[in-house]
Amino acid sequence: MGNFYNGYSWQQREGILREEKRLRKTGDLEPLSYLVDKKSCEVCDDPGRAGQAFQWHSEDYSPPYSFRPPETFIICAVCHSRLHKRFPDASGKPSDWPLFVAHLKSGGYGREFTELYSLEERKAWLAQIKAGRTVSLPSLRERPLTGKEWWQTLTLDPESLIAPWARPRPWLPRPPPQDYRAELDQLQLTDDEIALLRCHAGLEHRCATMRQLAECVLSSKSPSHANLIYGKLAHRLAAALGWEPERRADGSPIWRTVIAEGWQPVGREFEWVMVPSLAAIYA
Ligand SMILES: [Zn+2]
Repeated sequence: MGNFYNGYSWQQREGILREEKRLRKTGDLEPLSYLVDKKSCEVCDDPGRAGQAFQWHSEDYSPPYSFRPPETFIICAVCHSRLHKRFPDASGKPSDWPLFVAHLKSGGYGREFTELYSLEERKAWLAQIKAGRTVSLPSLRERPLTGKEWWQTLTLDPESLIAPWARPRPWLPRPPPQDYRAELDQLQLTDDEIALLRCHAGLEHRCATMRQLAECVLSSKSPSHANLIYGKLAHRLAAALGWEPERRADGSPIWRTVIAEGWQPVGREFEWVMVPSLAAIYA
């Protein structure tokens, strides 16, 4: 999963890079104006040294592409690298990201983290964090923060690298909530259909296997009945919306993609992640 991030494969992540190149080549720079204008790191607030080039980082690689917050951020090289390495390693050992965040909260710039603190000092603080204690690093600059900054709320769950639930928007655009609502009102859903949608929307990460939904709604151990109901509902809904579903390699439509994005986790059953604009109606 080396090059996956936030549920996007490397091939998917390349799309926004190609779009940036295309815009620069055609001289259509308005969509890139934030990248051009922003002169400090969105994570550590470092204005940089003379001549220092910033990088950009996307949390959201879905088309239509956005080159500004909250999808894309100007960021310094140190914060960028640490952000991507924030996950525990394969053995479950945590990274030093929480300590780095403590450094940022005390007003430190990314590059100062290893300039100011020796490996021994950092290890000692990390041991305190591991023991559940709060560490307080020397205050370097005044930095008013709410605690809700995007870089303070990033997940540390390694599954977020590959799971579609980590995508802020689905890979392919879905209809807006009002369109879903209008068509669902027209379709006169059965109690089972409504219960399935409601159960799915309320689960963690809007993520469910058909077996989970069958147990949750139909008191059945077998996914087949839930599968049948959901498949038929999805077909009617996609047709009513005039929405073009994703297709299998053989060209056949995957009607359920109007409800959710599917993915195959390692060692678990196939999962469906309900798209946010539909989940918003039932959550
Ligand atoms: Zn930075």
